[in-house]
Amino acid sequence: MIRWIFLDLDDTILDFGQAEDEAIRKTFSFLGIPPTDETVARYSAINKAQWEALERGELTREEVQVRRFEILFRELGSAASPEEARDYYMLALSREHGFMPFGKELLDALYGRYKLYIASNGTLSVQTPRIADSGVGRYFDGIFISEQLGAVKPQKEFFDACFAAIPDFSPREAVILGDSLSSDILGGIRAGIRTCWFNPQGKAGREDIRPDAEIRELPAFLSLLEDWENA
Ligand SMILES: [Mg+2]
Repeated sequence: MIRWIFLDLDDTILDFGQAEDEAIRKTFSFLGIPPTDETVARYSAINKAQWEALERGELTREEVQVRRFEILFRELGSAASPEEARDYYMLALSREHGFMPFGKELLDALYGRYKLYIASNGTLSVQTPRIADSGVGRYFDGIFISEQLGAVKPQKEFFDACFAAIPDFSPREAVILGDSLSSDILGGIRAGIRTCWFNPQGKAGREDIRPDAEIRELPAFLSLLEDWENA
């Protein structure tokens, strides 16, 4: 039986890809850097690598927030300020909050039947307005944001802090749904809860990180829960 569901926020419930794209284009325009598709794609690649280093514990959040722009501006030969880029970008990002397809519908279907928790590696100042403005806050019994917890997914400490905040918690009756193998799924495995990988683009999996289940569309999570109930 499943009682507790941890949901990753970005690119699982809310469309972070689109939010990031819009916020980064606004930031580049503000700094006088032409927001071409090529520059945006290069930023995304740098950003992804920096976040993966954060997940491995090699960088702090504060370092990632500036370094991604430092590296890009160096490559572009731009004299723009990485700190100014960080501030503008995070403010712009905090104002974007579109849903993933069926993100809202999934919350409606789960609400009242399970205890729901956000488990996000996002930054507090970015996530707080997004959670409020998207209206998702009311669905959740708890909102766990790594910056507040002092640990990030996939660190066990992140999940230990979540579990400690939930009365009568039992890992056997919990699941995490998320789009990232390296943070959501690896974290869930380390924490001893069930894992469901949301993989809308059908990306290749990893031999070393095997989720209990994989879905391409969010509504499939409901059938999965039913299967687990009946197993
Ligand atoms: Mg995510």
